[in-house]
Amino acid sequence: MNRKYRKTIISGNWKMNKTASQTKAFAEELKTILPKTKWCEVVLCVPYVNIPAALKAFRDTRVAIGAENLHAESSGAFTGEVSADMLKDLGVKYVIVGHSERRWYGGEDDLAVNRKVHAALSAGLHPIVCVGESLEQRNLGVTGELIALQVKTALSGVPADRMRRVVIAYEPIWAIGTGENARAEQANEVCQSIRTVVRKLYGARVARSVTILYGGSMNEQNAYELLAQPDVDGGLIGAASLDAEPFMAIINASNQGE
Ligand code: PEP
Repeated sequence: MNRKYRKTIISGNWKMNKTASQTKAFAEELKTILPKTKWCEVVLCVPYVNIPAALKAFRDTRVAIGAENLHAESSGAFTGEVSADMLKDLGVKYVIVGHSERRWYGGEDDLAVNRKVHAALSAGLHPIVCVGESLEQRNLGVTGELIALQVKTALSGVPADRMRRVVIAYEPIWAIGTGENARAEQANEVCQSIRTVVRKLYGARVARSVTILYGGSMNEQNAYELLAQPDVDGGLIGAASLDAEPFMAIINASNQGE
């Protein structure tokens, strides 16, 4: 992390977990142990149907609410979909774009991710853009090129002044939900390479200020070391965000450095 230049973000990703009542119960528990987290922004990305409950439960706190997906179009005949404007109107601040599960189950490719990034930005949301390689790709030695292509395509056409709202999350697919996190140096190496791509696209000032998260089996045991890396500016956390205590432990682990 480098809190002098960029915001630290600890974000949960609940995936398809918890009902609205469970969301309320989680919020009550987290609120009792959550200090004034001046050192980081705490975000919870929750299923669409739980957004109103989450917004209400966290109304009097500094916890920001995010969605886990959005549709690229602003309105129209897209049964079952949700637009960026709908999320913004509710009070949502962040939205995950291009999570590997959506790329896999939802067939989202880099171009679809790019359209969603534009939709989120146009509505005033902060997209958390996920990139990451599979184990096969890592073993083939193409991680660097692949991640660079994912980042460049996702950000294609995004002007520099909108980059202030973009968050990038490096999530190696082999580490998501497997209990096998990337080693701290591996995570930092890729996050640093993402910053280099951003520097080439937008220059040093934007690269220095963009928040780049690591995600993939981050938990209360490994968070401190991962978050101590200079180019890892926070975490996108699945399983360990489902209970208040481990999530709080990760929030506390981000309270380091300046
Ligand atoms: C995720 O889904 O973004 C994630 C990182 O999950 P987990 O922490 O469970 O690996």
